[in-house]
Amino acid sequence: MKIIFLGAPGAGKGTQAEILSERLGIPTISTGAIIREAIRTGTEMGKAAKKYTEAGELVPDTVVIGIIRERLAQPDCEKGFILDGFPRTVPQAEALDSMGVVPDLVISLEVSDAAIVERMSGRRVCEKCGASYHVKYKPSGKGEICEKCGAALTVRRDDAPEVVQSRLAVYHETTEPLKEFYARKGLLRTVEGQEKLEDTTARTLAVLEG
Ligand code: ADP
Ligand code: ZN
Repeated sequence: MKIIFLGAPGAGKGTQAEILSERLGIPTISTGAIIREAIRTGTEMGKAAKKYTEAGELVPDTVVIGIIRERLAQPDCEKGFILDGFPRTVPQAEALDSMGVVPDLVISLEVSDAAIVERMSGRRVCEKCGASYHVKYKPSGKGEICEKCGAALTVRRDDAPEVVQSRLAVYHETTEPLKEFYARKGLLRTVEGQEKLEDTTARTLAVLEG
């Protein structure tokens, strides 16, 4: 099973992808998480990517395509995978095509810009293991501490309000055309994001079973 999640930044793709990943026993591949990890550990790729992510801009296609090519070659991807945050541009989707990767389903998670701005302000991420939380919708059982590893939770630099606005603009201009790209292939399904994440999961599963 190969699934692609599309959706605005903060729409909740990552959270839904993690839940599906556990249910289906296939890995989630999040380019955002891979890039943040590279920035945290200070690799060459991380150093190159940092200025883009902090400005709310996309990391160049060649960089992310390279990340995905390497990751999909790992043995755990043989049974399938969920892509969260890739592709994000038409050239990235074309690169996936030319790697011979044909998704079974592309799920677009729809959430209004206003709801996204509200959600981003409450988002927290573990600085050690990368787990994500939300103060209101998905709180850690340990408050401002990660319930998985015990490290401190922080606000992502790119979740600052000004940066969120530019990420939304980039989404509408550059990523949203992918809906049309996959609709033409007959692969696009739409899920309306719900206030409660369990409700969104139920709708996502219904689409998978549908
Ligand atoms: P969100 O979906 O909330 O925007 P992500 O964790 O998916 O966050 O991505 C964080 C940042 O990493 C993006 O703003 C962008 O700079 C970079 N990034 C992630 N995936 C891609 C991609 N496929 N192409 C280009 N840049 C990416
Ligand atoms: Zn953690």
